[in-house]
Amino acid sequence: MKKLYITTPIYYVNDKPHIGHAYTTVAADVLARYYKALGREVFFLTGTDEHGAKIAEAAKAAGKEPKAFVDSLAPQFQKAWENLNIEYDQFFRTTNPEHEKVVQEFVAKLKERGYIEKRKYEGLYCIGCERFVQKNELIDGKCPDHNTEPEIHSEENYFFLLKRAAEDFGLLNIIEKDELIVAPEGRKNEVIGKIKQGLDDVSISRAGVTWGIPFPGDDTQTVYVWVDALINYWSATKIYKNPPEWPTDLHLMAKDILWFHAIIWPAMLLALGLPLPKKVFAHGFFTVGGKKMSKTVGNVLDPNDLVKKFGTDAVRYALLREFPFGEDGDISEEKIAERYNKDLANGLGNLVNRTISMMNKYQIKLEIRNSKLEANPNVQIKKIQKNIEELRFYEALGGIGNIINGLNVYIDKEKPWELAKSDSEKLSEVLLSVHMSLSSLVLLLAPFMPESAEKMKNQLETLKPEPLFPRIED
Ligand SMILES: [Zn+2]
Repeated sequence: MKKLYITTPIYYVNDKPHIGHAYTTVAADVLARYYKALGREVFFLTGTDEHGAKIAEAAKAAGKEPKAFVDSLAPQFQKAWENLNIEYDQFFRTTNPEHEKVVQEFVAKLKERGYIEKRKYEGLYCIGCERFVQKNELIDGKCPDHNTEPEIHSEENYFFLLKRAAEDFGLLNIIEKDELIVAPEGRKNEVIGKIKQGLDDVSISRAGVTWGIPFPGDDTQTVYVWVDALINYWSATKIYKNPPEWPTDLHLMAKDILWFHAIIWPAMLLALGLPLPKKVFAHGFFTVGGKKMSKTVGNVLDPNDLVKKFGTDAVRYALLREFPFGEDGDISEEKIAERYNKDLANGLGNLVNRTISMMNKYQIKLEIRNSKLEANPNVQIKKIQKNIEELRFYEALGGIGNIINGLNVYIDKEKPWELAKSDSEKLSEVLLSVHMSLSSLVLLLAPFMPESAEKMKNQLETLKPEPLFPRIED
């Protein structure tokens, strides 16, 4: 079976890792861990995007050479992923000289095949976005993401003939027929709608930007940072010792960059005769405490701070449990604390603790575990697995929560403390049944909360109870 190839975007290195980056990366990690646990070979790629005018400017402001500057920033992401217990297979950096070669070959081939043309271009350019922007994207004449007025830029650029490539290879049809799955469904419809409105060719080089990969055959231009970044997914199959196999099974990202992944990237691959990714999935945005996350408001959530406050697993859990993956939703420290106390401390943690404590108290031995297990949640487990596979993490965790509640209710109904006085056979049946259900939950919880699942497994095996999730006060 082909090694499963899962990617996150490579993150723009001039930004500190925030909760949005963490969201995508944790989701990818959950999937990778889930499939690895099933015995499937997986290659999980993440990394940093390190070229472009914005980086060059920031480097200059910091009094550093661009390369030294990005070398100092990339580890911030590696550190954040370490804190969140992200088990990626490779951390990609676009300043890797081998990647630069692959990009040049990729672009040269597009040119050879007649999908690149040099044209004069004049338009509004947002430095923050690093791209030409359309008037209808602006609010009060300003870029809504950066709150700055775009500048008028005019230059000769190389253009990728997006319209021609999409038509030549029937991109619309490919997406409509799910030969390239764009998910969730609402995003697919957006993409289809945009293709039907008509595609514009896209500028893929920059004349004034020197911090980038030289455009093949023209040293006066560099490859547009976005193209350089997209090619990382292909590049990874070429430059590592133990590479993933093309094509990608899943590109995961936030919705603001779906356009690049669902239209431009597939069109380029088609133009080169390369197989397309199987699936592109765009998740939603966070508001923090009901407000758009922004430095000016001061509500940017740093995943490292959250991990310090709540622990790695609680943050991983809360991110995916707060609202359905694919939709927009709200998060805050208060919400994470509430989730933690309700679901983890009072729910799962308490269930594990009381079960093991009662097994000790009533001297229930694990060896006499039999098959008459009323609380065994096999059917629910299948459904949860399917939800994980289809990236419905919120629903999967909801299903796990239902099992936990169900087991707590089952204990309250059967009252082991009364059975202890009257029916010792039934007593061990009840507790062993809960014990066995908890053991199967370990497998489902492990991708989401690897450390806690490991602790839970040990406690269930040794019957030594220890609080898994101590309550957070205040
Ligand atoms: Zn902008």
